[in-house]
Amino acid sequence: NAIKYLNELTLKQKQDFFDSFDLILCDCDGVIWQTLHELLPGSPEAIDYLKRQGKEVIYVTNNSIIPIGMQLKKFERFGIEVKKHEIVHPAQTICDYLKSIQFDGLIFCLTSEAFKSLLREAGFDVVEELVGYVETLDDLRAVINSDDPVKAVIIDVDFNLTASKLMRAHGYLKNNSECLFIGGAADTLITIGGKDVIGPGPYISVLENTTKRKALILGKPGVALRDFIMEQHKIKNARRCLFIGDSIVTDIRFAKVCGFQTLLVLTGTTTPEDLQSKLTETDTPDYVCERLADLNGFLS
Ligand code: PLP
Ligand code: CA
Repeated sequence: NAIKYLNELTLKQKQDFFDSFDLILCDCDGVIWQTLHELLPGSPEAIDYLKRQGKEVIYVTNNSIIPIGMQLKKFERFGIEVKKHEIVHPAQTICDYLKSIQFDGLIFCLTSEAFKSLLREAGFDVVEELVGYVETLDDLRAVINSDDPVKAVIIDVDFNLTASKLMRAHGYLKNNSECLFIGGAADTLITIGGKDVIGPGPYISVLENTTKRKALILGKPGVALRDFIMEQHKIKNARRCLFIGDSIVTDIRFAKVCGFQTLLVLTGTTTPEDLQSKLTETDTPDYVCERLADLNGFLS
């Protein structure tokens, strides 16, 4: 199916498009703001317009390194009204998931401190940070010979990830088939300040390859996140949902798995050239527009 560019639609097609969804699931980085702090001009006004037209808006981000309190303040600073339950992000999703299965046990995290704090505040036990520089095999033995009764390994963005942390995680997963293996954001690359840096995806793959196990991915584009969102937001008809994102492999792929309609914006990781090359059936967006702000006053 060919991509439809919003600015090329006739008035009737615009109306039909606008009437075809009730719920908007909006990615954050690269759609509302750039990297961590710079607002993309016109985004709050567009969101406000969509809400005034009767659309419900929720936010689906893979960014777990900002604590939820700070996330809320960020929305507020940019003049976007949001409630905590309207933000979906891996740390919260994983926390809710662990509660739903009444998880009880020690957790080993390859994540940010913010992520660990959220787990601790929810009452979960998290292994303290590994310390010490590993040089000799004796050092390594001390790191990997752990008697901690770890029952879950969680991996998301961790700027302090080390080979020894991965080795320890590998040990927990390999030695205990009951130990849960959970991933958050599975991005191969994340864009920070216009630069691509390695996301958690490749490290999740290292653990998957070396343990011959599959992680349960509760961030985009994980299939397990679909079930969570459908239930949490009581979505009955996926076709009446529009996912707006900037990443083909993270957002569009995830939205397609969910059966949502998809709108790609070009303010983040995807360039117009990317749309000319290497798109497959499973990741071709339904619609494309330059920026979220293009939706402000869409029907006027
Ligand atoms: N920033 C950081 C630090 C991240 O870890 C990620 C995703 O992993 C992102 C941004 C992407 O966030 P979003 O899903 O809102 O585009
Ligand atoms: Ca994004």
